[in-house]
Amino acid sequence: MPETKTTSKVAIVGAGSVGATIAYACLIRGVGKQIALFDVNRAKVDAEVLDLNHGLQFVPMASVEGSDDVGIAADSDIVVITAGAKQKPGQTRMDLAAANANICRKLVPQLLSVAPNAVFLLVTNPVDVITYVTQKLTGLPPPRVLGSGTVLDSSRFRYLIAERCRVAVQNVHAHIVGEHGDSEIPLWSSATIANIPLHEWAVKGHGKLTVRDRSEIFENVKTAAQQIIQGKGATNYAIGLSTAKILEALLHDENRILPVSSLLKDYQGVDDVCLSVPSIVNRGGVEQALPIKMNEAELAGLKNSAEQIREAIRAVGF
Ligand code: NAD
Repeated sequence: MPETKTTSKVAIVGAGSVGATIAYACLIRGVGKQIALFDVNRAKVDAEVLDLNHGLQFVPMASVEGSDDVGIAADSDIVVITAGAKQKPGQTRMDLAAANANICRKLVPQLLSVAPNAVFLLVTNPVDVITYVTQKLTGLPPPRVLGSGTVLDSSRFRYLIAERCRVAVQNVHAHIVGEHGDSEIPLWSSATIANIPLHEWAVKGHGKLTVRDRSEIFENVKTAAQQIIQGKGATNYAIGLSTAKILEALLHDENRILPVSSLLKDYQGVDDVCLSVPSIVNRGGVEQALPIKMNEAELAGLKNSAEQIREAIRAVGF
């Protein structure tokens, strides 16, 4: 009888600030019973694995291993890619496209050969470009290649709305769509608090959110990464938690709706580009990009974002 697989294995490629924090968030949340870290920097990956293993007593049962040999990712259910260059202060995510696409050209075929049945989850920036590049390099069915997209941006957006409106972040429903980057779009028209449209919500002692309130909130969402990078050199906690949430949706077959990046086909006039819209995520990857209602300006923004991403994809030779 064939051996039945009872554990789920997550390979995390790149044991830097983001990769190591995803591993830590997964351990604490009990996501992925077997975690394998792969990094070309042997000393770094060994140190991260040691540190994570020393905390195993305090988390749900799991194992963590690591190596500078790609074979460590063998037979993974999910491969998460965080390897590559990160933004320096003042750099945009798109500035990383050429360097990180080149890393993928070498890395992705190796990962596919050791983990041919995996779903690929991209985190490396610019994540929409890198998701498209990985989809083309692997030739996998589009649902099996997704990017963390605007899950993080939407969580920043919800946090800032919640803070202004003085309600719990869990009661705010609002999405950022499009590029995970400068051309992203806030969907104000469909934002709600406990089913009440946000444009009807009156904040105690302040009234409804003004145009200025909204532009301040969105500006803060867009510049959040730079603010954090200026102060500590990298963003890691929120991306760690949001990626663990996407992994949970994948591994636990949740049908959770998340604004992940995936290859869109004839989506409200957007075609053959990876970007984020609210999508159903389950064990197979991205089941469906939902046809969420957008007003004219939001839809125009989405199309513009698609153009920016497509241009960057072409510039890296795909
Ligand atoms: P980091 O420099 O701390 O870590 C990157 C790691 O990748 C390093 O340890 C490096 O040795 C490793 N690496 C490089 N080339 C490799 C290869 N070919 N194979 C295996 N490992 C390799 O950077 P970080 O702060 O962890 O950021 C990683 C990436 O994640 C960046 O591109 C960053 O922009 C991106 N990021 C994305 C989001 C998002 O929302 N999508 C959020 C934060 C960061």
